Amino acid sequence: MQPLTIFDILEIWEHGTGCSPVKQALVILSHAFPQRPAAEMVRLTIGQRDACLLQLRAMTFGPLLSGLVTCPACGERLEMAFDTSDLQATGAPFSESEISEAENIEMAFAYAPYEVTYHLPTSIDLSAIADPASACQRLLEACVRDVHRDGVAIPVSELPADALEALAEHISQSDPLVDVTLDVTCPVCQHAWQVIFDIVTFFWAEIDAWAARLMHEVHVLASAYGWREADILHMSVWRRQRYLELIGV
Ligand SMILES: [Zn+2]
Repeated sequence: MQPLTIFDILEIWEHGTGCSPVKQALVILSHAFPQRPAAEMVRLTIGQRDACLLQLRAMTFGPLLSGLVTCPACGERLEMAFDTSDLQATGAPFSESEISEAENIEMAFAYAPYEVTYHLPTSIDLSAIADPASACQRLLEACVRDVHRDGVAIPVSELPADALEALAEHISQSDPLVDVTLDVTCPVCQHAWQVIFDIVTFFWAEIDAWAARLMHEVHVLASAYGWREADILHMSVWRRQRYLELIGV
């Protein structure tokens, strides 16, 4: 894995804007692992994918994550800050050699009288789901290989809602970064709640803001000096800032 350069960030922005988060995550990863085929990246489990994105975020923009949340009880706007290693510590241990194995690992889940075998969800499974209303159930169904009730094979559609719910819980325990929740306590009213942290949305918003700012800088410098885009991007941040100051930006 290699950190993103400003050239990567602009290319990711160009190819991922307007795409689904699943696709945006894959565009980002294709730049972090340029030597690995895309077919391999789509087979990462969602937990592995998110662990890679967290690590890449730390390598590119640093390990500190911060954002604003609104207290649902009193409406206070709170700034949250945490470290990528706080999340990685709770996540699945991950090594690059596991990538190709992830999809082939068969998981077993028992919920009497049902027995289910499944694979952990990957980007392929997420991409196959278009309708958000039934997405969760369809994702579970896509990951299930077979279902037995009292030892007799049955179709996955016959799994009752409570068994599907327990299965979802089993998946998130087996692939912990699938659902990352953070505990928050409001300092004003002491209300405590959990927020879901989604690294794809978070990282994409940063890439989007970064690329838009970079493009504006290129526009201003190219307009003022007539320099080529590539020449401006090859400058150090320090030098680019000095030129911007000289033209009063
Ligand atoms: Zn509050």
